[in-house]
Amino acid sequence: GKRAFVAGVADDQGFGWAISKALTQAGAEVILGTWVPALNIFETSLRRGKFDESRVLSDGSLMEFAKVYAMDAVYDSPEDVPESVKTNKRYAANSEFTVSEVAAKVKEDFGSIDIVVHSLANGPEVAKPLLETSRGGYLAAVSASTYSFVSMVQRFAPIMNEGGSFISLTYLAGERVVPGYGGGMSSAKAALESDTKVLAWEAGRKHNVRVNTISAGPLGSRAAKAIGF
Ligand code: NAD
Repeated sequence: GKRAFVAGVADDQGFGWAISKALTQAGAEVILGTWVPALNIFETSLRRGKFDESRVLSDGSLMEFAKVYAMDAVYDSPEDVPESVKTNKRYAANSEFTVSEVAAKVKEDFGSIDIVVHSLANGPEVAKPLLETSRGGYLAAVSASTYSFVSMVQRFAPIMNEGGSFISLTYLAGERVVPGYGGGMSSAKAALESDTKVLAWEAGRKHNVRVNTISAGPLGSRAAKAIGF
């Protein structure tokens, strides 16, 4: 069976969960990377059976995750984490949540990986039109939603098996005007689509892996509801 690392699962409502389930159903072992501030509630809900109905596989058994790592994809290495974040109540209980540290832990715990799914995005000013978006909001959207994928390909490609596959999720608003998808999120998706081509070329040659992005239709995930989609 294949081994997959899925980043961006913190409940059973989003694409990351559905992809994890499809991969499990197809016989893959699934490891999660869950955003640090959402980790505690996710693990508690999982333990208490809140997601049990959504965990049911076609043979009646429940989907299990091989491991859940704390992750914050806006940080590449420990020196990038500001003191204010390190000491934040929701971060203090966790360590080694930067992209390079998570990749190192996955290597240590599992050796190698076949599939990496990037199912995460964040745009603090997504509710604002681009015309009203601040530089900080725009850069934060691109950092969390796009560079996070570049960073993951950099750190995970070396631990991927030959022919391994990276996949991320994009949205139509990167190609066409979709009013309401603001805060630089349209820019982040346009960059993600371009980066996918360049990363496929570069990582394909260097590591013999594939890099793709899927333009998903609208889904009432937590992220989408937050912007009233
Ligand atoms: P979701 O809320 O289920 O998933 C987004 C996840 O990103 C959350 O679990 C959140 O905790 C995580 N996250 C945010 N910032 C993070 C960070 N810094 N580090 C690590 N994790 C972080 O919502 P979703 O809609 O399933 O989103 C998954 C992907 O699908 C995103 O890339 C999104 O842009 C894309 N997408 C969504 C839609 C839609 O209509 N919902 C359409 C097309 C594409």
